[in-house]
Amino acid sequence: MATMFNAKAFSAASPSSPLASTTIARRDPTENDVQIEILFCGVCHSDLHQVRDEWKSVMPTVYPCVPGHEIVGRVTKVGSAVSKFKAGDIAAVGCMVDSDGTCPECRRNLEQFCHNCTLTYNFPDKHTGGVTYGGYSDSVVVDQRFVLRVPPNLDLAGAAPLLCAGITTYSPLHHWGVTKGKKVGIVGLGGLGHMGVKFAHALGAHVVLFTT
Ligand SMILES: [Zn+2]
Ligand SMILES: [Zn+2]
Repeated sequence: MATMFNAKAFSAASPSSPLASTTIARRDPTENDVQIEILFCGVCHSDLHQVRDEWKSVMPTVYPCVPGHEIVGRVTKVGSAVSKFKAGDIAAVGCMVDSDGTCPECRRNLEQFCHNCTLTYNFPDKHTGGVTYGGYSDSVVVDQRFVLRVPPNLDLAGAAPLLCAGITTYSPLHHWGVTKGKKVGIVGLGGLGHMGVKFAHALGAHVVLFTT
């Protein structure tokens, strides 16, 4: 079992209680891990669904629950086998923190389709035997395969929502090869929709927004 350290976090104790300041245990980085001091974390509606146990039938909430999967921060420590990151780098973490690495999807670099992936919060944590805790915290420890590089010239608070809302809308635009001259329709100008509009416009598409 991994050795642990204490981190500050905001957690919910029940579906109806507000988030409150608390202390959680994180694992010390193992050889492939990156430890990150969290500077910003976006608020995704999934965080609220999970905290309120609104996905009870598919993913019951384990309390206390620490949500947050739009994480941007500064690397403070890396394991001995980590080559992609060093202390001081700006890094980010999204909705997943681990996968089996061996299934056909993982071998094709499509870890998002892995049936043995580990989500960033409220998911069985093979390192601790408990559940994963998300980014409403002052730190997080994540396998380097699930840590992303962030250009330091970006506004870091503004970059955080790219880790869930952003990738969710960028992915289909990329998948369908949106370029100059293509037409893109986006339904709803919400947290995701407004990013879809900006991405599609930046890719040169003719963008149409549908809204009430
Ligand atoms: Zn999300
Ligand atoms: Zn896999």
